[in-house]
Amino acid sequence: MGKITNLTQMECDRCEAKEVLTQGAPNTSYWHDVQRTSSDGVTVERLLCDDCYKSYVQLVSNQDAEFEAFMEEGSWS
Ligand SMILES: [Zn+2]
Repeated sequence: MGKITNLTQMECDRCEAKEVLTQGAPNTSYWHDVQRTSSDGVTVERLLCDDCYKSYVQLVSNQDAEFEAFMEEGSWS
């Protein structure tokens, strides 16, 4: 296989799946950088694989709906 340069190793922060990407053919659509702000205002960044990202999107979609419901509780209209 010889010498390969410019490799990037990706590792999912949730399930620890790993993949080595070459610069010429990056599988970037499989990997997702996400940011989440906790209730005390701390924002963390995580790298997720596509499988974990799908679960994450479901989680935050539920949280979005809860937040919208929470905001509407305060409405007098
Ligand atoms: Zn994962």
